[in-house]
Amino acid sequence: MSKAPSLILSVLKTQCPHCREGYLFKHNNPYNLSKPILDMHDYCPVCNQLTEIETGFWWGTGYVSYGLSIAVSVATVIAFSLFVGWKADYSFLWYLIANALILAMAVPYLVRLSRTIWMSFFVYFDPNWREQKK
Ligand SMILES: [Zn+2]
Repeated sequence: MSKAPSLILSVLKTQCPHCREGYLFKHNNPYNLSKPILDMHDYCPVCNQLTEIETGFWWGTGYVSYGLSIAVSVATVIAFSLFVGWKADYSFLWYLIANALILAMAVPYLVRLSRTIWMSFFVYFDPNWREQKK
């Protein structure tokens, strides 16, 4: 039996949690804004796993997205502290502006990552997915 593809890599590449091979989104580049960012396959193109498991399934993605935004903000606060530092001037305002821009630029990828992480909470990797193709 071949080695299972990495969970972290497949999540970062927004791949199906069931087979870790198929891409969940129809267009791979989330920054191609001429295409809908959240245009997903109804079923995984590789293993045929249903993506929207039930009506309103993506509702919980908001919690994941919120957590990711907080994680990005914590990372930027640490980076700002290390590389710029806090002074009694407008540095906090500059931090807020920079963080808002970084978050806004990350949105297309973060919303896709949120859906992939959310789906991974409910759909587990099956090393024998080829034999039990849905
Ligand atoms: Zn799949």
